[in-house]
Amino acid sequence: MAGIKVAKFGGSSLADAGQVAKVCDIVMADSQRRIVVVSAPGRRQSGDVKVTDLLIALAEAALSGGATDKLLQQVVGRYAAIQQGLGLPSAVTVEIEADLRRRLAAGITERGRFLDLIKAAGEDACARLVAEALRRRGADAHYLHPGAAGLWLTAEHGNAMVLPESYARLRGLRDRPGIVVFPGFFGCTPDGTVVTFPRGGSDITGAVLAAAVGAELYENFTDVDSVFAADPQLVPNARPIRMLTYREMRELAYAGFGVFHDEAIVPVVRAGIPVCIRNTNRPEAPGTLVVPKRPSKGGEVVGIASADGFCAVYVDKYLMNREIGFGRRLLQILEEEGLSYEHAPSGIDNTSVVLRERDFTPAKEAQVMQRIREELQPDNVEVQRGLALVMIVGEGMHCTVGMAARATTAIARAGVNIEMLNQGSSEISMMFGVKAVDRPQTVRALHRAFFEERADAGGNAA
Ligand code: ASP
Repeated sequence: MAGIKVAKFGGSSLADAGQVAKVCDIVMADSQRRIVVVSAPGRRQSGDVKVTDLLIALAEAALSGGATDKLLQQVVGRYAAIQQGLGLPSAVTVEIEADLRRRLAAGITERGRFLDLIKAAGEDACARLVAEALRRRGADAHYLHPGAAGLWLTAEHGNAMVLPESYARLRGLRDRPGIVVFPGFFGCTPDGTVVTFPRGGSDITGAVLAAAVGAELYENFTDVDSVFAADPQLVPNARPIRMLTYREMRELAYAGFGVFHDEAIVPVVRAGIPVCIRNTNRPEAPGTLVVPKRPSKGGEVVGIASADGFCAVYVDKYLMNREIGFGRRLLQILEEEGLSYEHAPSGIDNTSVVLRERDFTPAKEAQVMQRIREELQPDNVEVQRGLALVMIVGEGMHCTVGMAARATTAIARAGVNIEMLNQGSSEISMMFGVKAVDRPQTVRALHRAFFEERADAGGNAA
């Protein structure tokens, strides 16, 4: 039997009847797409509200004893429009409304538990609707409740994690006939309580199912043609990336590459299953394939990621290199102050640590600076705020001389001063710290240098 493809559709792919019709066409175009994971309907246009956000507002209203009817009608209205647009029986909407009312009437025992029960209704109703739409087109499609299927999660409401035994329990889905339509975003604790993943968690559901059934491919349908080599908002002509490795994806995602949360794909990474990011609105576009390994050639950069919101603490001390334990004590101060550091570029007599600005509040800064001065007796210590990190990433970077030169020359030509430079020890990335105001020029300059100037540069990009 041909392998299974798990196809996950995000909220924008399910926002209205027209989008759901596209989803049905995609699912039915490939008989290997036997497990379909759906989000709740998302925004239909800018300014619109996602069903999940409506449900959160509804739950909050119920929790505070306020009026719920208008919000409930808004949610039901979203599904009714899809049901009517697809010519499905009105009984589908009637049942969705009844289910939502039952959830609201379940009683509030605990805030997190109640919120999760209401939030989960978005994906649950959507899966029922999509299964119905597929059946209407003649497919043998069936909705499946995650709890009944065995998707067992920890009891952390809104932040659940998969329990390892889920994988064995879900493996049986492999042999189920027809198409399984599975709601994303939630599962159950072993005692049957509904719990949700963090926001955007339908990606996790899809990845867990793909790993559990040993899928041939995990397809993640969204509203972009592919992952781009740089943020298209900064570089309008950014090149699409056809293929990248898990490691490249992770390095890029870390520095603000927002296609999906890299942690969401951990289950498929562990299982070595390729992930394909594709566009529901243009299913003929090849998308981006994320794979365990790919052929790479020297000098190749696959993508450029960047993010604002960083700061650096610089510490200077003459003969620091001889002082055993200096680095450890510096990092220990950060650890004791509850700060996670991002990078630690260092020299002979100086070292620096890069932190996220949102964690390094002025009060924390005062405390950390005082401790460094007292405990490490440095010659100088200072903080620089308003930094951005720009990363170039590529498996082929480690074996190439001159990558840094090419990058720094490009940045210098753009008139940007590099505040900090770090080659990741994985050697598949190089990080440049620049002033946040210089981030757009830096990204553009690097894109030009690695993707536009030489035909052989960034050979992976289309
Ligand atoms: N509907 C949920 C959210 O908006 C989960 C998801 O779409 O993945 O966060």
